[in-house]
Amino acid sequence: MTTHAKSIATHLTQVRQQIAEAAARTNRTPESIALLAVSKTKPVSDIRAAYEYGQRLFGENYVQEGVEKIQQCQDLPDIQWHFIGPIQSNKTKDIAAHFAWVHSIDREKIARRLNDQRPSHMDPLQILIQVNIDDEASKAGVSLQDVPQLAEFIADCPNLRLRGLMAIPQANSSEEEQIKSFSALEAAFLELQQGDPNVDTLSLGMSNDLSLAIRFGSTMVRVGTAIFGTRER
Ligand SMILES: *Cc1c(COP(=O)(O)O)cnc(C)c1O
Repeated sequence: MTTHAKSIATHLTQVRQQIAEAAARTNRTPESIALLAVSKTKPVSDIRAAYEYGQRLFGENYVQEGVEKIQQCQDLPDIQWHFIGPIQSNKTKDIAAHFAWVHSIDREKIARRLNDQRPSHMDPLQILIQVNIDDEASKAGVSLQDVPQLAEFIADCPNLRLRGLMAIPQANSSEEEQIKSFSALEAAFLELQQGDPNVDTLSLGMSNDLSLAIRFGSTMVRVGTAIFGTRER
């Protein structure tokens, strides 16, 4: 193993440990929280190093970069690829043809295109609705009150399967503000789950806030920096 591959393995161990500790504090099992390794801007060799160390879920933010990496990792068939970045409508075809999950759905138009473009030989695309939990003008996502309408639309799309909600909370907010946002999101998630037995995923928490996210019901944390190191962009 190269030194860099070793450091990825060490970081993965640390992140898994952090997840296990946060889970234990809320009487949850570590298995109830999935770890999505966010590999955006990082080379395929980093993905392979994490894979060697047991990591199977990977998240990408940019369509072209993601598709290239997926094609370069065809020999690793049990990798599961998640698209987590903003979606332009001229990119939906590539997302529909290559990814297993999409975390960043915030409008009907994009959902409709993904449904129409999902190849028939593939499983339904697993969908999370992105919520703009802190109502930030600069950020994608629907407001909490608009979740039910979009959820209903997705539920009627045969090639999509609604699995839950995703959010990127405001950076640098106080813990008090974070708690307010996280608990509002958790409540919306539990309500959505009541109406749809397929809903089982709350994608919340990144390198800096994953423990708090797990306290508020996260079932999938998206971790980049803490596994692969800092990014140039
Ligand atoms: C980049 C990114 C992450 C990972 O963030 P880190 O702070 O590096 O862990 C998670 N989710 C989304 C949507 C991202 O764009």
